[in-house]
Amino acid sequence: MPEHRQIIIIGSGPAGLTAAVYTARASLAPLVVEGEPSSMSDQPGGQLMLTTEVENFPGFPDGIMGPELMMNMRTQALRFGAEIITTKVRRVDFSERPFKVWTDNVDHPEPTYTAEAVIVSTGAQSIMLDLPNEVPLIGHGLSTCATCDGFFFRDQEIAVVGGGDSALEEAGFLTKFASKVTVIHRRDALRASQIMQDRAFANPKIEFRWNSRVVGYLGDTKIAGVVVEDTVTGERSDLRVDGVFIAIGHRPNTDLFQSHLELLDNGYLKTTPGTSYTSVEGVFACGDVQDFTYRQAITAAGSGCMAAIDAERWLHH
Ligand code: NAP
Repeated sequence: MPEHRQIIIIGSGPAGLTAAVYTARASLAPLVVEGEPSSMSDQPGGQLMLTTEVENFPGFPDGIMGPELMMNMRTQALRFGAEIITTKVRRVDFSERPFKVWTDNVDHPEPTYTAEAVIVSTGAQSIMLDLPNEVPLIGHGLSTCATCDGFFFRDQEIAVVGGGDSALEEAGFLTKFASKVTVIHRRDALRASQIMQDRAFANPKIEFRWNSRVVGYLGDTKIAGVVVEDTVTGERSDLRVDGVFIAIGHRPNTDLFQSHLELLDNGYLKTTPGTSYTSVEGVFACGDVQDFTYRQAITAAGSGCMAAIDAERWLHH
């Protein structure tokens, strides 16, 4: 027999745990399926578990470590009666109510849980280069978010990898702090929009390394530079920098929902603007799985609050 719940929250980053705090305080006894560690870059708590210091989350004037912030949110959700289980949702069926959620045997006709409402907060991942020593260097000179980490590189030299709008936006932002930013792109032409290209070319602090790909990181415990390979000649050289920002795109964690919820062309979950409503009534989405614009911990948390309130009101009516 499946266990029936009023509300199930899938995912445990800032969005999911904020939704858990709010729905728990609304006496909905939420079940949070927090995920489980399957690799160093995929673990409960989301992307903040891979961050060191977070200085832009309001309420922490001296900053807070990413994992500590997530543990605090988790403790807060538990305090109000949320139940958190360390496993993954492996299959869902949103075709009828109550919704069905499987966390173990996906071939079993009976789901593990049924729920009146579901909040999806499975987040997104920055696409990485998958090079040796990459994950341990994240937060130690290696970053995927200039807004979050640019401040730490005042008067230092930085490399940005990528040739799209994100890479040039990150590069431009980083010139506020860095003494020099080198954009490393694998081709000789950028993918970014013309206006972003014009801005970058006009910025005296930005240099380009064309036809170049990063094939290794220098530094064992902290970034000291990158090994760059010329894609035309195959020649390799070291580029000494204090920070490396990877900006080659993001991937929302939507595999589970492909045939159950409407997705946008870019793969993110579609929500009704200004709300957390998805294409299925009773299923709500928040955080980076539906946000390809802001991608901040605080906006994820804010949207988790929205999803909790939307779900609570929907259940009530
Ligand atoms: P994107 O447009 O897909 O660009 C990714 C870039 O990374 C491309 O230049 C690509 O190279 C490179 N790349 C991909 N995989 C790589 C790898 N393994 N190694 C090295 N380089 C790799 O992604 P994005 O820049 O994140 O932008 C995503 C969307 O958001 C776009 O539609 C963009 O316009 C939009 N966006 C807009 C703004 C803005 O308007 N302010 C800001 C950010 C993003 P190739 O070019 O060779 O494929």
